[in-house]
Amino acid sequence: MDELNEFFKGKKIAYFSMEMGLQNEIPTYSGGLGILAGDVIRASADLGIPLVGVTLVSRKGHFAQHLDEKGRQSEDEQKWSPEDYIKLLPAEVTVRIQQRDVRVRAWLYEHKSLTEELIPVILLDTDVDGNSPEDRGITDYLYGGDSRYRLKQEIILGIGGAKMLDKLGLHMSKYHMNEGHSSLLTMELLRRNEMDPGRVKELCVFTTHTPVASGHDRFSYDLVRELIEGEQEIGALRKYGGEDELNMTVLALNLSDYINGVAKRHREISEKMFPGYKFRSITNGVHSYTWVCSHFRVLYDRHIPGWANEPELLVRVKNVPGDEIWDAHKNAKKELIDHVNMKKGIGMDHDTLTIGFARRMAEYKRPAFIFSDLKRLMKVNEAGKIQLIFAGKAHPADTRGKEIIEEIFGYIEDLKDTIKIAFLENYDMDLALKMVSGVDVWLNTPKRPFEASGTSGMKAAHNGVVNLSVPDGWWIEGCVAGVTGYSIGAGIDPDSSPEEIERIERDDLYNKLEYIIIPKYYDRRDEWIAIMRNSVEMIAYYFNCHRMMRRYVTEAYL
Ligand SMILES: *Cc1c(COP(=O)(O)O)cnc(C)c1O
Repeated sequence: MDELNEFFKGKKIAYFSMEMGLQNEIPTYSGGLGILAGDVIRASADLGIPLVGVTLVSRKGHFAQHLDEKGRQSEDEQKWSPEDYIKLLPAEVTVRIQQRDVRVRAWLYEHKSLTEELIPVILLDTDVDGNSPEDRGITDYLYGGDSRYRLKQEIILGIGGAKMLDKLGLHMSKYHMNEGHSSLLTMELLRRNEMDPGRVKELCVFTTHTPVASGHDRFSYDLVRELIEGEQEIGALRKYGGEDELNMTVLALNLSDYINGVAKRHREISEKMFPGYKFRSITNGVHSYTWVCSHFRVLYDRHIPGWANEPELLVRVKNVPGDEIWDAHKNAKKELIDHVNMKKGIGMDHDTLTIGFARRMAEYKRPAFIFSDLKRLMKVNEAGKIQLIFAGKAHPADTRGKEIIEEIFGYIEDLKDTIKIAFLENYDMDLALKMVSGVDVWLNTPKRPFEASGTSGMKAAHNGVVNLSVPDGWWIEGCVAGVTGYSIGAGIDPDSSPEEIERIERDDLYNKLEYIIIPKYYDRRDEWIAIMRNSVEMIAYYFNCHRMMRRYVTEAYL
């Protein structure tokens, strides 16, 4: 253990997240929340923040997506071999679940930054000899199974994770819960601190990401009693996590001194959803080096040395000649278009204005919004040719999300003689980077106010890709209309009916494309490149994970 102690020495902040996008080959993430957690690890390493990550090993991953010719999604396991990427630690703890001792082991992932700083991540695993077959599977599927399975996972993550840190001799000054999945860690901290909530609150930081009530994990006390024993524990859960049902968000809110939302608007929404709690906001950011494609890395290295570890320097992108920005973009676009043509054989063009949309296929994200009025879309395409690239997985239990993919496949077929459209399978970190750097316009059309922050648009801006988005989440802060990109339906009276809001947004989307974006892109290339440059200068320099982590350090951790 000596070598280990050396490795963990001085780590003060435990960062808990159910999902974590550590690298493309490790399928322990599902979407934005996990990518953000991975970016936290990467930025903390660059900055030398003494942090250790805690997540689940998710041996069978989230899922691999297959789409048939009609866009019907089926799912496969994403089994991976931990031993190929991570090291088993010589430490084990047990956690009581359903009156059984469940053995939990830990794997170590070592993230090393460009500056040679190391951040350890602990991946908890119940696939241990001696556990029942059922218990061995608790850490198999990310977001799989029913609520009993989910609660077991959250017991492992929260209680198992806190115990494991202790077992490894790590004495943490803060426990940061990235979303409520890990909030049972507060039970372990209460136990260690004579059930004193004041002491636990000092130790805990909670970040919420979900502006929809149904998005917060809740469990009935029948289920809780079945899985967690001890009158004292149940009493404490009732006291801090809700009288009638256990709400993981409420539990974290009641036992954290520092609570934040992930964008300014999201803070306001959260305060309305949970009156009586003081929320702050730290707007998300992305890890710049990870989310800049190779062509732009070379460009920035040449003109803005040091940018990777000091992304604020991207503010100096004015020094980069426009033709070099355009060339780097053309190269990134060629890579994407060639990839699409290789996968789909539809002969997409290298010079056509290309619009990208990729994220989890959930209804509130409105992935098919651009198809709301096909006549208008055709008119847009007559003003100047466009082509569209989509990607995204629907959660296996989300029938509406799956339907939306089928709808998009229907439009692809209907429009195939006029507008080339591709839907790529298996949206993951690699495909995300290809798309956010390879399209011309990054489209986002969520239903307000459900986009807590959103981060893919920040990735796009890092690569000079122009955002066209509904002003929700981070884009409210990032958009300077006509300067850093374009908004869809800005300034709508929030008291308008949902139908009215949608009508205005639809009109505005088509008008912006037809009358502003297409003419600028095809006829006034210099102006277009100016917007690309502004995206880097005014978005990337700020909406990055280094700025975000510095704020967590000074406002939440210290
Ligand atoms: C960045 C990213 C997301 C999050 O995208 P949003 O637009 O913020 O929803 C989801 N999935 C992957 C693979 C990503 O890289």
